[in-house]
Formats: sequence, C-alpha cells, structure tokens
Amino acid sequence: MTQVYNFSSGPAMIPAEVLRRAEQELCNWRGLGTSVMEISHRSKEFIEVAEESEKDIRDLMNIPSNYKVLFCHGGARAQFAAIPMNLLGDKSTADYIDGGYWAHSAVKEAQKYCTPNVIDITTTFGDKRGLLPMSEWKLSADSAYVHYCPNETIDGLAIDEMPDFGDKVVIADYSSTILSRPIDVSRFGVIYAGAQKNIGPAGLTLVIVREDLLGKARTELPSILDYTVLAENDSMFNTPPTFAWYLSGMVFKWLKEQGGLNEIEKRNKAKAELLYSTIDRSDFYRNQVADANRSRMNVPFQLADASLDAVFLKESLEAGLHALKGHRVVGGMRASIYNAMPLEGVQALTSFMNDFEKRHG
Ligand code: PLP
Repeated sequence: MTQVYNFSSGPAMIPAEVLRRAEQELCNWRGLGTSVMEISHRSKEFIEVAEESEKDIRDLMNIPSNYKVLFCHGGARAQFAAIPMNLLGDKSTADYIDGGYWAHSAVKEAQKYCTPNVIDITTTFGDKRGLLPMSEWKLSADSAYVHYCPNETIDGLAIDEMPDFGDKVVIADYSSTILSRPIDVSRFGVIYAGAQKNIGPAGLTLVIVREDLLGKARTELPSILDYTVLAENDSMFNTPPTFAWYLSGMVFKWLKEQGGLNEIEKRNKAKAELLYSTIDRSDFYRNQVADANRSRMNVPFQLADASLDAVFLKESLEAGLHALKGHRVVGGMRASIYNAMPLEGVQALTSFMNDFEKRHG
C-alpha cells in the first residue's frame, strides 16, 4: 500500500506511533479485558489517565500552578460563547482582534453577549495578504478582555510573537497552533483549543484558564460551559469524551518522548521552510501571505493556472498525499503540517510538486 500522508486541517493526523499503540491495546486496555472507551470515567484507571494527561500537558507547556487545565466538550466554537459568558463580568465590551475567518467567527458569537470592539487587522502588502502591526490596533479602555487568534487555519495567517497587550486579560484561540512551539502561558488569561489538530481526536477541547478569572460567569450560562463548575468537578461535571482524552494523553507522552516543544518547534520550522521555499522557487505555485504572517501550520497555495487544480488533486491523491484541497472560502490548495506530519511527508509533497511542475509547467 502507498504510504499515505494526510494534510487535512482537522481532524488531522495523529502520530503513527500513538495510533499503533492504541490499536494494540484497543480491546484489552491495561489487561482489563475491555477497551478504555467502555470503562467509567470515574474508575480508578480512567482517573489515572486524566491525572497523567494533565500532568504531561502542564510539563510540556510549563503551565503555572495558578492555572486550571480543563478538558471540555463542544470544540473551539463552544468557547466562542463560553469566553464572553464566563469573562465579561459587569462589562459590556471586549476587544476582538479580527485577523481572519476564525477570529471573525468568534466576533459573531460574542455579539450575542456584548458589543465587541472589533479591530480588523487584515491588510495587503502589494499583492500579499497580511496583518497590521500592533501599533495600529486600537484597543478599548473599557474592555473586559482582548481576544485574538494566533493562527488562522483557513487563511494561513499567523501572529507568531505574542503582542504586548499591556495589562489586558488576553484570551487566545490556539486551536491550530497549540503545542507547535513553546509559549509563555503566564501572559494569557485563557488559552483554548479544539483537539483535532495538534492534540488528538475531535470531541475534546482544551481550556487553560487563570484561576483569578473564575467565578465571574453570568448566571444564565449553561453549567457545562462554566469554567468554575468544570474546574470544581475536575472536568467531569458530566461524562467527558473519554476516548479522545485518553488518546490526547498518549499524544502528550509522544511529544515528551520527541524532546518536548523546543524540539517540535525545530521540526515544524524545517517542514514549513521546505514547503514555502518550494512554492516560492518559481511562478508555477503561489502563496499569497506576506512573509511576516506566514503560518507554520497551514500553508495555502495556488497553482498559477487554476485549470490544473483538479488534475493536481487527483494525482496527489494517487501519490498518497491526501486532503490538499483548499478551504471552500479560499480555494486552491492547503497543506496542513501539524506536529504529527513527519518531515518525510512534506518531502513527499514537495517532490510531487516539483515533478508536477516539470510535467505541466
Ligand atoms: N478556531 C480555529 C483557529 C479553528 O481552526 C477551528 C476549526 O478548524 C475552530 C476555531 C472551530 O473549531 P471546532 O470545530 O472545534 O469548533
């Protein structure tokens, strides 16, 4: 069978070693004669999984002790509502940095609960799309928090250096870049991420929240989205997505075995550099994002001759390079190269691209 590399933006690849281990223990987990997904979340064995996974992600991200780590449901979109409902307190506005599709989706949800101060930072530099520098962002004096998305999965736009928001409470949607590099968690109020890109299977959502932000939720907030309720119940207010949690825990261990986030950042840099340099080498392919804002995780690119799109997708699929079709909003191609994508996968893609160009250029 052809070696398959899956460039999906999410659900995305899980490290092959993790999948193999999960397969081995699927039907007889820890010698219990049953699978992990069939046992109670309150059993001693599952509590161990929960505790170990929390410890591992705390180690990996160096999460300070005054932060709670919550394992939630509902994806990042549930957090678009949970954030304002948990954090507005008596304020009626929050700053929303709007740099792309997902930041804008968060704005639309927040509008149900407050009047967000929307700061559109999208711009163009020549024929490239990019983001305005922070000196041009007009934050409101009266906002409860500032929300931004460091990596726009669809647009392929990234804000790699955390902006200096002064003493604002900073909330970040890290869905498509969490665990891809070290970050200073202590500078954030809340970090959240859907699991299905760099963490594990869809169904789990990670929320890291500073403790002093708990206890401000609006009374009408459903309990299942209330950070205080979740924290008081060790993320088991109701039945958590146990299989996704267990597998995510295995991904955390895999990351530690690889050398942690410093090492994974090096690999992610190398993969992204290889792909962007292949795109930039000729006019056959184009990436329309300004250099300073290019994402290391999601690389959209176009063929100069769009009439070749269908044949590119057909041939790449035959070569074992899956899910390269761009998002319907942007078109063209997109290669998502999260932690689990090995360098060999990007090498297979760039060899294919070079060969395709020779044949069709
Ligand atoms: N935020 C970002 C940056 C995303 O990439 C996505 C999904 O791709 C979402 C939010 C929505 O995530 P979910 O489908 O888990 O609600």
